Amino acid sequence: MYFCVKISQMNTFKLNTLPQELVNQIAAGEVIERPSSVVKELIDNSIDAKATKIQIRVVNGGIDLIEVSDNGVGIPQENLPEIFNAHTTSKISSLEDLNTLLTMGFRGEALSTIVSVAEVSLVSKYIDSDTGAEIEFKSFNESSVRKAARESGTVVTVKNLFENIPARRKFLKTAQTEYKKILDVLYPYFLIYPNIHFTVQKDSKIVLDLKPVPNSKENSVEKERIEEILKQDFVKRMIKVFFDGGGIKISGLIGHPSDHQKRGINQYIFVNRRPIWDNGIARAVLQGYERYIPFGERVPFILLININPELIDINVHPRKEEIRFLNPFRVYTAVEEAVKKSVTGVTSYHRESDFNTTVQKPTSFVNRDMDKKIYSSKDINFKSNQSSSVQDSLLFSKEALSESSYIPKQKEKYIEEIKSVGNIKNVFQIFNKYIVVEFENENLWIVDQHAAAERITFEKLKNQESKNERQNLLVPTSLKFSKKEIEVLEGLKDFFTDLGFKYAVKNDGIDITVVPVEFVESNFEKLFDEIFALSEDASDILKELNRLRENILATMACHGSVRSGQYLHREEMLDLLKKLIACENPYSCPHGRPAVWKLKLSEIDSNFERTY
Ligand code: ADP
Ligand code: MG
Repeated sequence: MYFCVKISQMNTFKLNTLPQELVNQIAAGEVIERPSSVVKELIDNSIDAKATKIQIRVVNGGIDLIEVSDNGVGIPQENLPEIFNAHTTSKISSLEDLNTLLTMGFRGEALSTIVSVAEVSLVSKYIDSDTGAEIEFKSFNESSVRKAARESGTVVTVKNLFENIPARRKFLKTAQTEYKKILDVLYPYFLIYPNIHFTVQKDSKIVLDLKPVPNSKENSVEKERIEEILKQDFVKRMIKVFFDGGGIKISGLIGHPSDHQKRGINQYIFVNRRPIWDNGIARAVLQGYERYIPFGERVPFILLININPELIDINVHPRKEEIRFLNPFRVYTAVEEAVKKSVTGVTSYHRESDFNTTVQKPTSFVNRDMDKKIYSSKDINFKSNQSSSVQDSLLFSKEALSESSYIPKQKEKYIEEIKSVGNIKNVFQIFNKYIVVEFENENLWIVDQHAAAERITFEKLKNQESKNERQNLLVPTSLKFSKKEIEVLEGLKDFFTDLGFKYAVKNDGIDITVVPVEFVESNFEKLFDEIFALSEDASDILKELNRLRENILATMACHGSVRSGQYLHREEMLDLLKKLIACENPYSCPHGRPAVWKLKLSEIDSNFERTY
């Protein structure tokens, strides 16, 4: 049926050359979707013109008026009549140019499409000219140019967007929503151009005045600028990333692992200064955090990728919001590596700064402060044999930090964070499963005892510390295995020795003789079953040992740890907390489940709608 109609319509088929105006309106449907797209194109032009100050003014969510004023190089008066023509650009003239492009605009279609959907005028003073000129666009055959006063740069005024296309105007949202979308477009520019002075005027009010950050450069991020825009605490704790290799350079800031969040907000990606979005890159960032944040959680990040322009295609999206990489996986690997390096860097200071104390089995732990009502935070943060104040122990760790020169500076900020939880006032267990910790500074932690213990054991195994506290089994534990499994266990002998295990391989199985103390009471049969289950074929474990290493350790950590359902004495709880905080990553178990739920008194109060 449908086809019939089509064919009969085709009988009246007639070729029309579309008037330029209509062509541009159709193109505008892709380039100019809403006020925010106009803002984006105008900002791109100002940046391409090397502006250092850009003022944005919007009225009624940009629907009535958008005005972008810059102090860039300007446009020579004789060129003004042409800038509204389609495919007129001063930026590229050949296909080769397109491949090496570093300017924001290049298609020469922004202004020509904007004039087809709004009333546009432009005043500009070219840098080499004494006077400015104004052009008012009326139609493609008619626009008037006259002299106009302007000190420097260009101002473009766009009025009454889509007034001539009611069908499109209808699709615009409320002024407030359109304004919000304009900010969404602007934020990335604010972030990556800390050297540019931006102001935003909404209706008649200046709502943002972002002064240039002293000594800053374009294509870089500055915490000062980020804080001004995002106004959130996590910014302080963000950590630097860096990568350079194979034609790819990565820099920027990523969230501290403790600042994981449910939603993927405050995530920004730039490729060669251009704000874009790419799911693969976002995923690679998360992979870099593997085991450091709970599964399914996100992190804030501002990632600057600089790549040889010949290795990307930016001409794949009408609004240039996506790009295509020649070799995406090279980029993803670089991103993951950069993130991983920074995350492990920032979380490993604990190990450097303390915990030389011999680790004992929880039950034999004796805390000299045990009788005191209030436990100082050194009990959980720092050396237990320090009798001085919390302040001292913090100083101690600061010193320890500055001693090791390779530890990044921002770790001091992280210390501040730990300092902020304060002294322990109360600690108790609930449901034989969770440890509740009340701190003096109105902080409350609920710790999953098994997740916490797993994390501790995992890191001990990983750092081969468990090798130091082994126990000989009086009666060796004998386990039966298949021929194939025995071969694997033979091959894994060195691997297990490094972890603190010793076993003798026999014809039909193994005899376990030495184990790390945490494992004395483990069910080894189950443990090895689970290890073999990590790969499809047991012998793959040997082949893929490097890749499986962390998974094996996580599986083992699960067996060598305090279980849920186990009653803990007060000292055992304190010991667990102390060791947890000393971990590289105290916030999740090695499988990525959260280990700590942090609450503030204010959150509890607000749950009860209490305001005092
Ligand atoms: P494109 O940016 O792709 O070149 P546009 O339609 O956005 O195309 O702009 C057309 C031309 O107008 C630009 O190539 C540039 O020469 C000039 N132009 C536009 N805006 C500005 C500005 N703010 N400052 C200087 N020149 C500008
Ligand atoms: Mg442009």
